[in-house]
Amino acid sequence: MSAYSNFSPALNKALNHALAYLESLDTDSVCATASLDELRGRLNRSLDEHGVPSEQVIDELVGDVEGGLLGSAGGRFFAWVMGGSLPASLAADWLVSTWDQNAAIYASSPAEAVIEEIVGNWLKELLRLPQSASFALTTGCQMAHLTCLSAARNSVLARHGWDVEAQGLVQGPPIRVLSGQRHASIDRTLRFLGLGSGCITDIPSMDEDGSLGPESLEAVLRAFSGQPIILLLSAGDINTGAYHNFRDLIPIAHAFGAWVHVDGAFGLWANASEKLRHLLDGVEEADSWATDGHKWLNVPYDCGYAFVADPRPHQAAMSVRASYIARSEVARDPFDWNLEWSRRGRGVATYAALRELGRKGISDLVERCSRHAHSLVTRIGALKGAEIMRESEINQGLVRFRSPDPGATETDHDAFTDRVIDEVVRTGRAFFGGTTWNGKRCMRISVCNWKTNDADVDVALGAVEEALGSLAGVSETMGESMR
Ligand SMILES: *Cc1c(COP(=O)(O)O)cnc(C)c1O
Repeated sequence: MSAYSNFSPALNKALNHALAYLESLDTDSVCATASLDELRGRLNRSLDEHGVPSEQVIDELVGDVEGGLLGSAGGRFFAWVMGGSLPASLAADWLVSTWDQNAAIYASSPAEAVIEEIVGNWLKELLRLPQSASFALTTGCQMAHLTCLSAARNSVLARHGWDVEAQGLVQGPPIRVLSGQRHASIDRTLRFLGLGSGCITDIPSMDEDGSLGPESLEAVLRAFSGQPIILLLSAGDINTGAYHNFRDLIPIAHAFGAWVHVDGAFGLWANASEKLRHLLDGVEEADSWATDGHKWLNVPYDCGYAFVADPRPHQAAMSVRASYIARSEVARDPFDWNLEWSRRGRGVATYAALRELGRKGISDLVERCSRHAHSLVTRIGALKGAEIMRESEINQGLVRFRSPDPGATETDHDAFTDRVIDEVVRTGRAFFGGTTWNGKRCMRISVCNWKTNDADVDVALGAVEEALGSLAGVSETMGESMR
């Protein structure tokens, strides 16, 4: 039997199912409609002794997950920070699985190693990071943090005469990590690194947006002066989209010998836009940067990027030698920069996305999502009973809904906000998530998908308006019947 006849039934099935799924995203429910019991009931088929034909596996798989997928690949999904997949990027990702290479080293996949080399250079250029920086293609920003902060740990300890790769952490000089508002993945990274979340000292912020002032940073740096220090800065807060002031803060940290790491999971992409790049002024002076491909670049899951200004501690933290591994003298071995041993050719989907969009396309994507987010925040915020909590220049924003009940308290508004979110999600017309920001429940608005257009924004606005109207109506009649 030829390979074609072995593979074509299942692959043709997959292609047809994929196209039907992509088509359905514009009209189908964005929320899951199948219950946990239904999904378990359908998917927990008996594991047969002899297996089933490949095309049957695919058909049944697609049937069984029906109603159990969110429409996050489509244009009406605004919860969390999730992108979709660009066509070339999705197709390239299929080919990566088809080629099934181990992209650990040049010797195990020459083409994929070269693609990563090129992708790293393109990304540095687009994100306006130093061309001399080293990089790694990771599974996401969490793992990019782990990569970058492994390098940071190596470097700040080396400056204190301590070789963490050989000596470990026990009895080494304690590292102090200074941070303002941050994503929880950072705390988790510090646990993975053996530093523990207890190594963090919070720098007092100047305002609700978590801005850090040079004076408060300097005061904290002074308090730990003489110790190995890592400073964490944020490029795009998960709730507000706020940025730290890199131009002012980074030189101060460097004057105290601190390593500066930037979490730019989505916010670093503002550097691809001439209009928005002022938000990142001075960010190129940092020591490491972490960002994502599966969020704003719209590469399929999972894909993140780590960049380190000085390649030496990065390589020292990651590289290993084993007698059976053939090392290249001339090409880049991904293995020297990554956490994984065996790994997929993670650069290929990014390569395809960057080529499909081009510089202008990426800039347009970033500006378009930001414009849609702004439009959602201001138009929802203008509805009766709604208020704008945070508008940003980028793709994030916060709104809150006020309970119409006379004498309603902030706690009632919190509960009402959650009810509005639940009601919108229940309609399946748009998907938003909730968050607690400065002690108040809010609805988060995040626009990351290349597909989101004006019509999607209108549908989402309509869904929120109706949910708000019907819930406000319910509370009014409840109020009347109680009187
Ligand atoms: C999503 C996110 C992360 C974690 O990234 P993953 O790709 O999910 O690992 C870290 N920081 C910020 C600001 C994020 O938005």
